[in-house]
Amino acid sequence: MDKKLLEILVCPVCKGILQYHQSQQELWCRAEKLAYRIVDDIPVMLVDEARKLRLEELDHG
Ligand SMILES: [Zn+2]
Repeated sequence: MDKKLLEILVCPVCKGILQYHQSQQELWCRAEKLAYRIVDDIPVMLVDEARKLRLEELDHG
């Protein structure tokens, strides 16, 4: 994913910084424990489409 794009992307809920997880192609917000998907290099910044992160994922990621 484009680094410039990553730098300007924030969580749509809390406007916080997102963590890019390249292997999973996801952007994580730790505040809401949500993972936003990246499809064909385009982040899907929709809460309805986001995946709930499990506690063990947050611990290790
Ligand atoms: Zn957030």
